[in-house]
Amino acid sequence: MELKRKISGFQRVRRIIIFLWILALPFALIRLSPAAIVFSSRNKILSIGIIFLVIWFISSFFTGRLYCSIGCPFGAGQDIMAMLLPKRLSPKGRRTMRILRYIFFIVWFFPILATIISGGFKSVNLFYPQSADGSIKIDSLSLASSLLLYYPISIAIFIILTLVFGNRSTCNYFCPMNALGIIGTKFKNKVRYPSLHLEVNKKNCVGCKRCDEACPMSLNTYDMVKDENMYNPECILCGSCIEACNKKVISYAWKWKKEQK
Ligand code: SF4
Ligand code: SF4
Ligand code: SF4
Repeated sequence: MELKRKISGFQRVRRIIIFLWILALPFALIRLSPAAIVFSSRNKILSIGIIFLVIWFISSFFTGRLYCSIGCPFGAGQDIMAMLLPKRLSPKGRRTMRILRYIFFIVWFFPILATIISGGFKSVNLFYPQSADGSIKIDSLSLASSLLLYYPISIAIFIILTLVFGNRSTCNYFCPMNALGIIGTKFKNKVRYPSLHLEVNKKNCVGCKRCDEACPMSLNTYDMVKDENMYNPECILCGSCIEACNKKVISYAWKWKKEQK
């Protein structure tokens, strides 16, 4: 009989945060989504969405894509789907499909860059698109109607994308913000100053592949363990593989070991 695995403190906290993000989904869609960020930058308004984006980008140089496992409402929605409807991404066409997110990134990032180049932000409104008088500017949607509208729409999108492509398909194929996290992750993994990463102790591995099954990004974690190379830029440092492995093969680390690949 399989021994019941203990849920680590970090995973407990992560699950609570995921749940809270789900409750905050309408707020997140209105203020933190890539669309909201583009709207505010086009209007030269420094919004909470842009501040989140900057924090996220800077944090990726120290904690990689940890943000994607605890700091993103859309990632949280997909994690819930992965719990209810586990479906790994098909390895077929994955590489080609990933080109999409870079195309989205270029289209999405251009207006933000244009705002910065053309003199930056003219005003600050942390609650944008809500104006000072309380009205919502984007599409005249009220907060109440957005609650009714955004929950079913976003849940439907998560279900459809999971059924068609697999878990965390938004992160893998469609999210324009993904590219920024990959830049920070690749940089820190190359330069190797103290930063959050995964470490492996291959000799304890029994090849059970539980780590593969647990990975929400559908990475071949077992192959990464075999190669003793855990530095995949698609890894969101969620720690699910650490929790799944009862041989303690994988662990978090801050300082780099000299002999690591
Ligand atoms: S890749 Fe995009 S959608 Fe996925 S968790 Fe990261 S920021 Fe969120
Ligand atoms: S779960 Fe642990 S023991 Fe099993 S294959 Fe993965 S690293 Fe090896
Ligand atoms: S390799 Fe491990 S830490 Fe990275 S995304 Fe997969 S389960 Fe999470």
